[in-house]
Amino acid sequence: MSKSKDFLRTIVEEDLKSGKYKEVVTRFPPEPNGFPHIGHAKSIVINFGIARDYHGHCNLRMDDTNPTTEDTKYVEALKDAVQWLGFDWGNSVHFTSDYFPKLYDYAVELIKMGKAYVDSLTEEEIREYRGTVTEAGRRSKYAQRSIEENLDLFERMKKGEFKDGEHVLRARIDMSAANMKMRDPLLYRIRHAHHFRAGDEWSIYPMYDFAHCLADYIEGVTHSICTLEFENNRDIYNWVLDTLGLKPPRPYQYEFARLNINYTVMSKRKLLELVEGGQVSGWDDPRLPTIAGYKRRGYTPESILNFCDGIGIAKANSMVDVAQLEFSIRDDLNTKVPRVLCVLDPLKVTIVNYEGSEEIEASYYPHDVPKEGSRKIPFSKDIYIERDDFMENPPKGYFRLTPEQPVRLRHGYIISCKEVIKDTNGNIVEIKAEYHPDSKSGSDTSGIKVKSAIQWVSAKEAKTVEVRLYDRLFKEEAPEGVEDINPDSLQVIKNALIEPAVITEKPDERFQFERQGYFYADPINYSDEHPVFNKIVGLKDSWGKKKKTGEPVPKPQAKKVQIDGEVVAMSEEQQALFDKYTNALGLNSEVANTLARDEQLSSFYEEALAVLNSPVGLANIVSNDVARELKEKQANELKFNAKQIAELVKMVDDATISNKIAKQVFEEMVKSGENPTQVVKDKGLVQISDPSIIAPIIDEIIAKNPDNVAKFKAGNTKLLGFFVGQVLKATGGKANPKVVNELVAEKLK
Ligand code: ATP
Ligand code: MG
Repeated sequence: MSKSKDFLRTIVEEDLKSGKYKEVVTRFPPEPNGFPHIGHAKSIVINFGIARDYHGHCNLRMDDTNPTTEDTKYVEALKDAVQWLGFDWGNSVHFTSDYFPKLYDYAVELIKMGKAYVDSLTEEEIREYRGTVTEAGRRSKYAQRSIEENLDLFERMKKGEFKDGEHVLRARIDMSAANMKMRDPLLYRIRHAHHFRAGDEWSIYPMYDFAHCLADYIEGVTHSICTLEFENNRDIYNWVLDTLGLKPPRPYQYEFARLNINYTVMSKRKLLELVEGGQVSGWDDPRLPTIAGYKRRGYTPESILNFCDGIGIAKANSMVDVAQLEFSIRDDLNTKVPRVLCVLDPLKVTIVNYEGSEEIEASYYPHDVPKEGSRKIPFSKDIYIERDDFMENPPKGYFRLTPEQPVRLRHGYIISCKEVIKDTNGNIVEIKAEYHPDSKSGSDTSGIKVKSAIQWVSAKEAKTVEVRLYDRLFKEEAPEGVEDINPDSLQVIKNALIEPAVITEKPDERFQFERQGYFYADPINYSDEHPVFNKIVGLKDSWGKKKKTGEPVPKPQAKKVQIDGEVVAMSEEQQALFDKYTNALGLNSEVANTLARDEQLSSFYEEALAVLNSPVGLANIVSNDVARELKEKQANELKFNAKQIAELVKMVDDATISNKIAKQVFEEMVKSGENPTQVVKDKGLVQISDPSIIAPIIDEIIAKNPDNVAKFKAGNTKLLGFFVGQVLKATGGKANPKVVNELVAEKLK
């Protein structure tokens, strides 16, 4: 169970404690009209997770009330997703269509109570009669039909005597209700369509608002958990169950915020467009946010579950950074999977002073967690290295092979370049090199200093593999459509070279290709004759480094070995620091890794820590902002010191300034070396948390935006973010976002 209890679990616990229910029953109710996506994963984790945590059960129910869009292949995909995430729906999958006869009877009952009537207005008239947010609606003249007439018409609708759209069944509630959804909602409509399970038996199909609450009731569901856009439907949910006077206990509906992720689209409709339009290879294309896509790409169920746990359950919609999902798969695979050598863009190297061959024993798990398992890497005079690991005229800070600079072959010897061979066009086609016999990794007595270790393979034994490099499908953070597709989202390399053990020993399906990223043997196209690997994710977040314009910055040239990929094993000292940071101080392994491997950073961090006991806050700023400065300068060239950074973090900790303002103060410290307290004072940046100062600003913004207030009240809850944003803007970013959020929500209630 996650560390802190979310609001749904709080409700469930109270209901069990008060005896309202003996057992908690939830359900996951997808419509089988597309493959499930990561948003559904969140819903699955919530519904099945709550059932598991409180020893109840969760039904998997296909909400199949719309015959024209549904299909068994989607049912199978939904079952697959739930199973893959590790959940169990018990004996059988439920289908709303199985309840069609019961639902029909309930509708007849409502008619008999005078609570439902057959309306014969056109769709357009129905819309017109409904009124607007500010105007009451009017009731249709057909609402005066007698119960007998309604019963007769409804039965004939069922028998298929009328055309689509000729009549509908509506609830008789209130045409002037403030909640527009309560203005005599539709319960049934005529659809002469083949249903993938019910066949041609039905000519009428129940609407969501009628079918959902009753399906919940029929199944004995206690907590009907759905996403926020159903908030206004809750009144109908209650109305149907209450009006029918059903025997208790009955279910209640609760809403949470749906998951949104940047750089992708999430609705099944938009995903279907991509699949049908051929922009992707199918529902399981590894670039799609579908569960099938993640599965095919190589994500583990654990990484998805951890991600869902990490984002929590909120009551306000927000956007989650896809980097967080990418972090969680990296974090899961980091210590689990074997690390091997693969060359994506091979450059031939001939080691002129080496004769014969040998095998180098190397652990699959050289880092962090000592896990058992090793392989033999063949070595000979003909090898391949990565083309960009050699430069003839390197820029300053290039730490790999050059005519002047030796480099270590990972797990092997140090080599020096002797000659560069080019074709007639001046392209480098081969390097002639010499190896240093006494420099072998693990028994190096050569005394030669190298700054980097690179991947390589022996030409004779290496296996050719296809590698599919996947990147984000969209180049825009909030993509509109196909025009925002990232043209480089898939790059296929047909002739990458990999060390042979990966294919012959198959120690795993997932690997870290050292310095390249994490890869997965494609579950569909892989064969020993034609191995195919999918890139799951890179070793680092490369998007975070991109410039505002969206143009990729050229790969940063490594200044230190550790930035150049996780090639070099940690020294004992570094390992000890890493352990302390992760175990005692609670840093995540990426941050701990960055700090532990860099002496300047770790000593800066330790110095700040001696002044202020805020390990995580300090680690974040040191591993990001300070590290960035230290890439360009030496520690003694910095204008600020560790003590000042501690002072800055302290102001964030005690809520004097916000995180955002802290960035601004840091920039100022970089430039002027001024004390943070002084910067905050001079620029008037102290965070405003006092509600009596913030409230009037909110009032003003509410008064200025009556249209948006109306839209919000009519159900567009996304506008909460708009109001919060306006307030933050009005205060130059100084208002405490938490306080603003709470106050705005309060005032708009
Ligand atoms: P889409 O708009 O993507 O088609 P949907 O809401 O129509 O999704 P359903 O099949 O009706 O999809 O959803 C099944 C369950 O999953 C519902 O309870 C729904 O609230 C939930 N769900 C759908 N999308 C998300 C999301 N992005 N985050 C959390 N839960 C979601
Ligand atoms: Mg839907």
